[in-house]
Amino acid sequence: MMQDLPSSARVVIIGGGIVGCSVAYHLGKMGWTDVLLLERHRLSAGSTWHAAGLVGQLRTSANITQLLGYSVALYERLEAETGLATGWKRNGGLRLACNPDRWIEVRRQATTAKSFGLEMHLLTPKEAQELWPLMTVDDVVGAAFLPTDGQANPSDITQALAKGARAAGVTIVEEVKVTGISVEHGRVRAVTTDRGAVACERLVLCGGMWSRALGRLAGVNIPLVPVRHQYVITERIEGVTPNLPTLRDPDRLTYWKEEVGGLVMGGYEPNPIPWAEDGIPEGFEFALLDEDWDHFEPIMRLALGRVPALERAGIKRMINGPESFTPDGNFILGEAPEVRNFFVGCGFNAFGIASAGGAGMALAEWVARGEPPFDLWPVDIRRFGRNHLDEGWVRARTLEAYAKHYTLAWPGEEHRSGRPLRRSPLYDRLRAQGAVFGEKLGWERPNWFARPGEEAADRYSFARPNWFEAVGREHAACRERVALFDQSSFAKFLVVGRDAEKALSWLCANDVAKPPGRLTYTQMLNRKGGIECDLTVARLAPDRFYLVTGTGFATHDADWIARNIPAGLDAHLVEVTSAHATLSLFGPRARDVLAVCSRDDLANAAFPFGTCRTITVAGAPVLALRVTYVGELGWELHLPTEFAATVYDALMAAGRAHGIANAGYRAIESLRLEKGYRAWGSDIGPDHSPLVAGLGWAVKLGKDTPFLGRDALLEQKRRPLPRLFAGFMVEDPNVVLLGRETIYRDGRRCGWLTSGGFGYTLGKPLGYGYVRDPAGVDPAYVMAGSYELEVAGFRVPATPFLEPPYDPKLTRVKA
Ligand SMILES: Cc1cc2nc3c(=O)[nH]c(=O)nc-3n(C[C@H](O)[C@H](O)[C@H](O)COP(=O)(O)OP(=O)(O)OC[C@H]3O[C@@H](n4cnc5c(N)ncnc54)[C@H](O)[C@@H]3O)c2cc1C
Repeated sequence: MMQDLPSSARVVIIGGGIVGCSVAYHLGKMGWTDVLLLERHRLSAGSTWHAAGLVGQLRTSANITQLLGYSVALYERLEAETGLATGWKRNGGLRLACNPDRWIEVRRQATTAKSFGLEMHLLTPKEAQELWPLMTVDDVVGAAFLPTDGQANPSDITQALAKGARAAGVTIVEEVKVTGISVEHGRVRAVTTDRGAVACERLVLCGGMWSRALGRLAGVNIPLVPVRHQYVITERIEGVTPNLPTLRDPDRLTYWKEEVGGLVMGGYEPNPIPWAEDGIPEGFEFALLDEDWDHFEPIMRLALGRVPALERAGIKRMINGPESFTPDGNFILGEAPEVRNFFVGCGFNAFGIASAGGAGMALAEWVARGEPPFDLWPVDIRRFGRNHLDEGWVRARTLEAYAKHYTLAWPGEEHRSGRPLRRSPLYDRLRAQGAVFGEKLGWERPNWFARPGEEAADRYSFARPNWFEAVGREHAACRERVALFDQSSFAKFLVVGRDAEKALSWLCANDVAKPPGRLTYTQMLNRKGGIECDLTVARLAPDRFYLVTGTGFATHDADWIARNIPAGLDAHLVEVTSAHATLSLFGPRARDVLAVCSRDDLANAAFPFGTCRTITVAGAPVLALRVTYVGELGWELHLPTEFAATVYDALMAAGRAHGIANAGYRAIESLRLEKGYRAWGSDIGPDHSPLVAGLGWAVKLGKDTPFLGRDALLEQKRRPLPRLFAGFMVEDPNVVLLGRETIYRDGRRCGWLTSGGFGYTLGKPLGYGYVRDPAGVDPAYVMAGSYELEVAGFRVPATPFLEPPYDPKLTRVKA
């Protein structure tokens, strides 16, 4: 008998795969029972039923690792809780390294695991073979073992989660297809199905690879595409025991696990094949694609080199299943910026079984409380931008990400596909002068400039890459003379209206209610006092503010601001990114250069640090901001895009006498590290308040003005801080800091680096991170410690600092 479909539910979840069921389970556990999960066929009919079931945990982000750790903890107790078998076993995960660079990568991963509190041991090839006797290790340099990783049966886990959800009061209805989504006044109102409409307050889309098309029904962009993924299941093999750990052999592009006495072996082909480019065919349930042995053959050959027994083993089955993959290899969670109360949990890149427990927990909290339990930026749907609207672009980039699944993740590595897409008006000029570009949100941005005779291309390395000297030259030009940076990709907004000041005073932690012509560096905080946005606010007029934030934060920051402007105020957010190019002119000679091209008074008295004015530069109306992220005298010049080439040419011509240089984003990184300027997304974010980030000076707590997050900060001030942001300097210039290195204080692990790099003026590696101690951390505590950093498994001494090591008194900036 067909189950009744209610006419309304507080929350509707679309999709009964492992992720939808996990969201339902967690909402139920939170006491949300007016929840309806709709599955168009039977539970697990999409990608879930044919997954291999490996459950690994380590990711490059601490919070995503924590999320996967939550999955493991949940799967461990789920069978006892629900009485349904889950196939979960904690047999550990082994990872091999077969060349010196991979060995560095694995050692760095082991250090990252240590930083995040995850047990991971480095093993010799022989020790690895003792855990996995069937493999040859002639080519293995070393291995790492994560004892808490494991494997599960995906369908069984899904059924157990569904049973737990039902027991908590959630309704699950199968054989109902969602065909439409109604949106009114920018909010979700209802879903239509082949069995009638269901009104709802909140919608959670967990539709796997169907999600892109379902999102489109409501104007929500979900950048994922289905890609074919294959593995084989063998007959029983002598010597395969149930306790065999999962095995990842990235240099042979393969993964392994035990299954009923045989082996599962799958791989990531370097030439992946997309699926269903014209839409997913009707009736694709519990379905597989045809076996493609030709495509799998290179993977098979690599696998045979590792496990010779495979040669004699019978192949029971080959699975060729489609799965949704995304352009950056991470899944997609959160509330869609386009439509309120439209939540998304999809795009799991073949680690949806490992992620579902934690992702379901996090998404359920997000749905119920309107905010995630902790910072989930690496998977946040707001990390995407205009470049992700085009499916062709998304597919090209996604296939590249798939092909790179097991290739070495080089420091500073850039994508190659779908480029160039968004170009500044200076692109061709810079390219002709040796610019080597990186890409962010589709924008081409100069990373560094090769000299004539130097190869204008990145050559990656875990030691010093080929751009090391060039970046040092650009860094020196900025510190000693003057450098010009094209930062046109900055995200830029106007906030306009009678109540613009009121709105921004509520949104910003710093005091922005200043007269026109003044600039403010500020954070915007969430309810818990965590940093949601980190930006510059320039007051142009009583009813007009200009906001500048990082390229990658365009969607996120716009969403945060628009969502938090108090109702009823006459204050409106307008994105103007494309209207303005940005040329940043910095260095001790910046004033001399700008003066040649402008008749405006640029003297310190007329144009001091922290102010902005419209001036004329080489015939162009330019909004000049006297602010800096590199720590030198200079201006960010924001100008109508069509003037950019003219102004650039004039500045370069005027600068010749002063030794002006083009400079790129890698120099900016080195310059900002020496100045201690924080980067949102790594050093600071929603989990860090300005107080722990050492940014208390930029908060108007001394004033009575209410602002979002103020109460939380006042509360934090009453107690000792559990952590504090600090810098670390290493004497040995050959140590390579990349971020995630473990920090030891007096021999005890107390945190990890949130960013790291090389300071060329200081001639030393620099890193930043939080020193943690539940008993409380203050500046004296930080400075009293004796520190070491673990870098790729080795410890090196480090000196802490709280004041920036370069120009702490800002004399250069204010010159
Ligand atoms: C070959 C292969 C091997 C894999 N191996 C692993 C592994 O070892 N470890 C790991 O962690 N992950 C692995 N994965 C990935 C894993 O299978 C997926 O990430 C995971 O199953 C995704 O779950 P989901 O709930 O997001 O999507 P799905 O399981 O696809 O669920 C989406 C559901 O939405 C339903 N639906 C769609 N449209 C509608 C509609 N209009 N109305 C109602 N319902 C709708 C579908 O029927 C489907 O049941 C593998 C994937 C493949 C293909």
